[in-house]
Amino acid sequence: MKQNKGDGVDENFKSDFLSDAEQAQQKLDTVSPSFCLAKWKQLSLHLTTGMNNSCYHPPLHRADADAIKLNPSALHNTDFKKQQRKLMLEGTRPPECSYCWAMEDNNKLSDRHYVVASLGQLKTLKLLRMLHGIKTLPQVMLK
Ligand code: SF4
Repeated sequence: MKQNKGDGVDENFKSDFLSDAEQAQQKLDTVSPSFCLAKWKQLSLHLTTGMNNSCYHPPLHRADADAIKLNPSALHNTDFKKQQRKLMLEGTRPPECSYCWAMEDNNKLSDRHYVVASLGQLKTLKLLRMLHGIKTLPQVMLK
């Protein structure tokens, strides 16, 4: 069968998207096998309901209105999220991130790698490691 221009497949081709995600995997694994920068750097905030998550895979949870009055960063740095971050720093998989764990258990890269690579979040990894904190303001806010 005659091929049209562009139909051929280059077996050695690797997209920048995939290369960046593989690089992200290596860098994230230097912190822990369950570490994900989206939990620090990304926020989906639903102001009308008071709910949020970081990224969009885990279920939404509510921010504490009293905590926000004292410090607006509590919109993102909820007690629940800080606990999930702590788990990640310790190498434990937060159950709410099951979407990524299912991919990785099938030897695939997950959004844990793709999202942080595509958003350029790895630049902040060094800073986060220096601070080694579980509080941070989001770099990316959705919604
Ligand atoms: S679901 Fe995946 S990409 Fe989202 S915060 Fe959890 S580990 Fe990161």
